[in-house]
Amino acid sequence: MQEEFDIIIIGSGLGGLVCANILAREGKKVLVLEKNQQFGGNLQTFSRDKVIFDTGVHYIGGLLPGQNLHKYFHYLGIADKLKLQRMNPDGYDFVTFDGDKNEYPYAQGTENFVKQLTKFFPEEENAIWQYVEKMKEICESFPLYKVEANENPVSNEDLMSLKASEVIHELTDNPKLRAVLAGTNFLYAGIENKTPFYVHSLSINSYIESAWRCVNGGSQISKLLIKEIRKLGGTVLKHKKVISISANDLGEIEFVKTSDGNSYKGKQFISNIDPKITLNLIENFHLRKSYLKRISEAEDTVSSFSLYITLKPDCFPYLKHNYYHFKNEIKVWTSVNYEEKNWPEGYMVSFSAKSDNNGFADGISVLTYMQYDEVEKWKDSFNTVAEKDDRGAEYEKFKAKKTEILLNELEKKFPNIRDCIQSTYVATPLTYRDYIGSSTGCMYGFAKDADFPMRNYLSPRTKIKNLFLTGQSISMHGILGVTIGAILTCSELIGRKYLVDKINLEYGKRKNS
Ligand SMILES: Cc1cc2nc3c(=O)[nH]c(=O)nc-3n(C[C@H](O)[C@H](O)[C@H](O)COP(=O)(O)OP(=O)(O)OC[C@H]3O[C@@H](n4cnc5c(N)ncnc54)[C@H](O)[C@@H]3O)c2cc1C
Repeated sequence: MQEEFDIIIIGSGLGGLVCANILAREGKKVLVLEKNQQFGGNLQTFSRDKVIFDTGVHYIGGLLPGQNLHKYFHYLGIADKLKLQRMNPDGYDFVTFDGDKNEYPYAQGTENFVKQLTKFFPEEENAIWQYVEKMKEICESFPLYKVEANENPVSNEDLMSLKASEVIHELTDNPKLRAVLAGTNFLYAGIENKTPFYVHSLSINSYIESAWRCVNGGSQISKLLIKEIRKLGGTVLKHKKVISISANDLGEIEFVKTSDGNSYKGKQFISNIDPKITLNLIENFHLRKSYLKRISEAEDTVSSFSLYITLKPDCFPYLKHNYYHFKNEIKVWTSVNYEEKNWPEGYMVSFSAKSDNNGFADGISVLTYMQYDEVEKWKDSFNTVAEKDDRGAEYEKFKAKKTEILLNELEKKFPNIRDCIQSTYVATPLTYRDYIGSSTGCMYGFAKDADFPMRNYLSPRTKIKNLFLTGQSISMHGILGVTIGAILTCSELIGRKYLVDKINLEYGKRKNS
């Protein structure tokens, strides 16, 4: 007879692995099915010229003992095993502009954040205090952000409909300070007059609490989570692309099929993949048109053009901070909806952290927005580990042209950079689409809209009793956001209070030991 699992999880992104870890701890027989050669989704790393590059984890917040992610990761059995490097206390991020020599810091610690930024805006100390206090207040109203079990404030329309750009605008009349406070909005693909302030706050506040890089890449998170899942008796399989999710006559999902011809039977199912694609895979069940429409029409966040640079030895300094650079202050909010002729209007720069650092960087990642439309003409070509890049010469020319434009921009900020470059590699929205399996290669799942706060706020519950969702389109994106989203998903199965109490209880034991 075919083996039956308690829980089958489709996709081994962070959300899927956190769910598997939590439910395996409950004694559930868990199976994770991943389509790729490498587990982890956006936690995947790759290496070129022996340099390890991250694809979707350049830094993480909230990992000091006592902080939120540390508590969650402790429960998952990985907090003290991670190899991390603390970023610069007085500036883990710097916002910079063409033609302005100042580098505006985001420092760790609330007081230090205000202190370091006030050095550049002595008249604005009050506004900067108000900014951090407001962010904290918003974060505090999300119980799971504080590892507490109360319900989320999704019904608090006032809170959910505050707009990031408006809140910042109201705090100060100083255009430069406004641009600096909004300057890391690449972290959530912020759109002016649209992105809610809670998305801004939940994305940024945990870095102010503490900011870290993963030494030798973020894939250590997925590796450690999988080790725990297997230790707890769970099964995690790669090269298992789920091609259908089949319901029985009672309207419950019974099994999933994978592209290698296998099928896997389960009692409950969690999808960690793009919710739009999840719904397309469902067979023998008629979902209500309104539900289908809401999900299929949900707006994706923009995608990224990522340039990975390997560097000549001992040439470019290793910096324990990131840059968010813009052509000018106005571009802080417009770079996401760039005009092609002005691309890129801003970019983010991060450095690969390695254990044997000698003061010089061996790799730089440069990330900037790219709309899916720009690569749509190659949409029928695929690039996976199994199938070699077959997008053709025109696509290669496109990538080379964009690389050159981005390097020209980069040179304005780092004049000597070209002398230090060994080689460059590129990821486009199609690369993200193919490696993650999302519809448009979007960076952060569904975009949130303060004017319609509930529209893209997806519940982990679906209209099918035993099918649940997890991942970055649920609740929030990012390492912290997706972890909290997985807690929400598992809460549907085992109860929120029960789970959060257990997390806190385990953490209490750590402190007392
Ligand atoms: C460019 C970029 C930079 C980022 N930087 C940061 C950062 O610095 N800090 C931070 O906190 N966050 C960052 N993020 C966000 C963060 O990485 C993501 O929010 C998070 O990792 C998403 O997790 P997820 O659970 O949604 O799974 P995903 O990463 O979306 O993974 C989904 C998994 O499902 C698999 N899958 C898809 N279809 C199928 C199928 N049919 N069958 C089986 N498996 C399937 C995929 O292969 C993949 O492994 C970044 C993201 C991007 C794109």
